[in-house]
Amino acid sequence: MYIPTIGLEIHVELKTHTKMFCGCKNDPYETRPNTNVCPICLAHPGVLPTMNEEAIKSVVKVGYALESKIADHSHFDRKSYFYPDLPKGYQISQYEEPLVEGGMLKGVRITRVHLEEDTGTLGHDKEGMSLVDYNRAGVPLMELVTEPDIHTPEEAVAFGKALQRILRYLGVSDANMEQGQMRVEANISVRKEEGEGFGTKVEVKNLNSFRAVEGAIRYELKRQEEALERGEKVVQETRGWDEKKQITISQRSKESAHDYRYFPEPDLPPLDLTKWNREEIKNLLPELPEAKYHRFINEFGCTPAQAEILTEDKSVADYFENAVSEFQEKKENASCSTLINYYLNDLLGLLKEKKITISESKITPEHFAHFVALIDEGKLLSRLAKDLLKQMADTGEDPETLLEQSGVQVIGDENTLKLIVEEIIGVHPKVVEDYKKGKTSALQFLVGQGMAKTKGQADPSVLRALFEKLLTD
Ligand code: ADP
Ligand code: ZN
Ligand code: MG
Repeated sequence: MYIPTIGLEIHVELKTHTKMFCGCKNDPYETRPNTNVCPICLAHPGVLPTMNEEAIKSVVKVGYALESKIADHSHFDRKSYFYPDLPKGYQISQYEEPLVEGGMLKGVRITRVHLEEDTGTLGHDKEGMSLVDYNRAGVPLMELVTEPDIHTPEEAVAFGKALQRILRYLGVSDANMEQGQMRVEANISVRKEEGEGFGTKVEVKNLNSFRAVEGAIRYELKRQEEALERGEKVVQETRGWDEKKQITISQRSKESAHDYRYFPEPDLPPLDLTKWNREEIKNLLPELPEAKYHRFINEFGCTPAQAEILTEDKSVADYFENAVSEFQEKKENASCSTLINYYLNDLLGLLKEKKITISESKITPEHFAHFVALIDEGKLLSRLAKDLLKQMADTGEDPETLLEQSGVQVIGDENTLKLIVEEIIGVHPKVVEDYKKGKTSALQFLVGQGMAKTKGQADPSVLRALFEKLLTD
């Protein structure tokens, strides 16, 4: 009976080498306070900012990835801001002419993407003293604003995850929410089905995880609906999310644009992007997650669920493709399904256990492809595969070398196994009869007998084929 409306504002710290308007190092992991600072980002009198080209290019890349319109002309504006975490007393941002406008992601229209500078961080000690650290002050901050096209908490999370993936693929930000590299604000309103226009919106700030985004939106929709049901009005305000209590809390009434008194930044020249080689930036974009997802399904026969996991992280996807090409070099036209299964279930599972990433793994894509080929050829029994993979991860050795060292033999020779199969058929007439009547589990039993007889060294697929052959003749 109520229709929810949600629009997102997402801030992203860009992974540039230096800050937005000075030469200070941009290092989100610096723990010593006020280390990466200089007269410019500390706002000493008489200093002048300069623009970081790498940051501007990063935003242009994001614009191309979202199929947005890249501005021909853009400029920076001053936004009045009086808190001690920005020493200038204003923030350099973009208001009238953002770098990027329009575009679309997950069916949600993008309003704009612009560039500004991050604030420093405030800390408070036990005596009530406030301490400020300017390491983060002046770090390039990208802001993306969506149209109010989202209707459920799940859609908001899906949008955020898709954006995070793109940012990582482009290499413009690590976009870790827990570290504040990607910060989501959700604008939320509800309206009666029969009503006209949107309801009054509330902005919820400081959402530092996707769980928080989902929880805060769900809570806020319910709170607003209940208020309207009681005949109250929703107050336009900024609220914060209390992770412990799982509620939103009123923080302050919302500023409007005139409170910020924007005006063009007089210390920076306007940007003429028609003079930039934008085509080159566009051509250098990597294949994006969405495209990769569809290609993996079409090219390698992945299921949608498999393609989803494979494309979540670019290095996971790249490793997969390298392994597939090594594998197909060994075995032309072979199906990738064994490789996909061992990659997703065994290799990635093993790395998770070891708490390392795919790039830190000692197993090269070539060794992994070789490992899968050994399984496909019946030289490595699947029940021994897990253990061999562990050894490969520990030593970085080639699977064939490790297999030889272990001395475990696989009996795949049909003539040797045929004798065993005939013997088993002789001793289990009842099971054989069951099998001939169509009881498929009987075959499983017979193969099991063959494995036991060979102390686990027979190739079960050869055994299975022999039983099938001898029992249908
Ligand atoms: P403001 O001027 O208050 O900052 P904007 O029009 O700039 O508002 O919109 C800010 C964000 O709020 C955008 O993401 C937009 O999609 C979203 N938004 C605007 N109106 C509503 C509404 N009624 N309900 C939910 N979200 C809204
Ligand atoms: Zn500086
Ligand atoms: Mg706004």
